[in-house]
Amino acid sequence: MPRASIHTLLALALAPLGWAPLLSAQVPGAPPAGLAEAPAEPARVDPALLERTVRYLASDELEGRLLGSAGSRAAAMYLAAELEKLGLEPLGGEISGREPLGGESGGREPLGGESGGREPLGAEDSYLAPLALVQRRFTAAPTLRVKTRDGTWHTLVAGVDFAVVPSGVPAALGELEVRTAATEEDLKQVAAAGVAIALSAPPARSRRWLEAPELAERRPPVVLVPGNRGSGRAIEAGPFGSITKAGPKPGTGGDVAGGTESPASVRLSLHGELAERLAAGEVVGVDFVPNLVSEPVDDSNVIGLLRGAGPPERAAEAIVVSAHRDHIGLQAVGRAGATEEDRVANGADDDASGCAVALELARCLAAGPRPARSVVFVFVTGEEAGMLGSRAYVDAPAWPIERTIANLNLEMLGMPDPLTKGEDGVSRPWLTGFERSTLGEALVALGLPVAVDPRPKLNFFTRSDNVSFAAVGIVAHTLSTGGENPNYHQVRDEWDTLDYAHMARCGEVALGALRAMASGELTPKWHAGEPRLGR
Ligand SMILES: [Zn+2]
Repeated sequence: MPRASIHTLLALALAPLGWAPLLSAQVPGAPPAGLAEAPAEPARVDPALLERTVRYLASDELEGRLLGSAGSRAAAMYLAAELEKLGLEPLGGEISGREPLGGESGGREPLGGESGGREPLGAEDSYLAPLALVQRRFTAAPTLRVKTRDGTWHTLVAGVDFAVVPSGVPAALGELEVRTAATEEDLKQVAAAGVAIALSAPPARSRRWLEAPELAERRPPVVLVPGNRGSGRAIEAGPFGSITKAGPKPGTGGDVAGGTESPASVRLSLHGELAERLAAGEVVGVDFVPNLVSEPVDDSNVIGLLRGAGPPERAAEAIVVSAHRDHIGLQAVGRAGATEEDRVANGADDDASGCAVALELARCLAAGPRPARSVVFVFVTGEEAGMLGSRAYVDAPAWPIERTIANLNLEMLGMPDPLTKGEDGVSRPWLTGFERSTLGEALVALGLPVAVDPRPKLNFFTRSDNVSFAAVGIVAHTLSTGGENPNYHQVRDEWDTLDYAHMARCGEVALGALRAMASGELTPKWHAGEPRLGR
């Protein structure tokens, strides 16, 4: 494509939105729209299709798309099916024998073949890149008995009389002697293999004591600490703590899928009268049965590829477009606006809107002509649980990191942001960390109405999936207008609260940015010293 073509495309795309005059004014020499040499009108972001995607992803049927839930998996299958309809190549992780990435041929691998003895895969499955995740679960309420100096065993109720601090998956150890330590020196004196310890120091300090290398061979299996008060609610069988990446975690002895490995120390805080007796050194025995297991969690990123049509070295470069498809699931009545009638935190703006825009970008680019660079579309899961999906992506990238030019992440584009309204009354999407790289200023120079993040103190740059890409050096920003949505993380974040004309305008901005980068015309760079990821 000639150099000016991107401007032509932008002018065509923006003309009906009222931004074309802005574009012509800011890009000297940009040809006016409608020149005879201009390609057939490029595909444009369609508000009706955005609405269709959001209505499904944010429907009550998907129950708020919680990581690891059936609703999240249904969302993944839907997006995979859409990518397949658009003709994108699957870049998931389930099928072995995939052709080398960045290769010349765009051929699809055979489905269901060479899959290592798995069940035959559905057509959409090959877009799924499964994550290695685990969730701890109580198979029954944990039980705890403690013995006081007078020889009495006291049976305590989990959640009411004591709390279990999340840490690994301990095994039941039977009755253990308890020794008391008040200082780090005490601890080093009394610690012995297979002996529980009662500690009365503040948790942060005593945790550090327990990590002392001298204790490596005689770390207490159980540590009892005095607590303030219980939650008042008895623990029942069910999930415990958050879903985490599978594999050993430092200092815990490991969270292994399906196993019941013993961690370094399980920490139990006692409440009420026994907390006082513990602090007084009166607790001499303990018998804790955790009833806790670690189980694998089934969830996946969804990844599709639009292979670049440029020369091989250009087509071997990729732009990653991302949006997170998970949300926070069902809410307890009384929380987040949940009622008996509706407990679904639908996540329409957060982030069905970003997914819908990403899908539209894929559709518009796939409608061709294909860009020079490749474009990877990834619908990540687990953003709400700590960017698990985007971290998994960069750990096992579907496209080589060193050939990934940029990540454009899309978050909460469904409501206009009053702080970035221009004189025309139109709210502009902002780019998180605008000042950190050359991307934002380059997009503005192209005439795209991209704003600076108006709330830098809220650290949005580090609060979405772009940060995982930035952490491995890829120029990565989030495009958003999600600063003030009153329905954020509420049951009310429903499809009918969004402004689809606004979302389409944001989508056009994202499309313009993507076309500029994918054409090879724009290669953003970090400014010196970036990316700084600390606060
Ligand atoms: Zn989000």
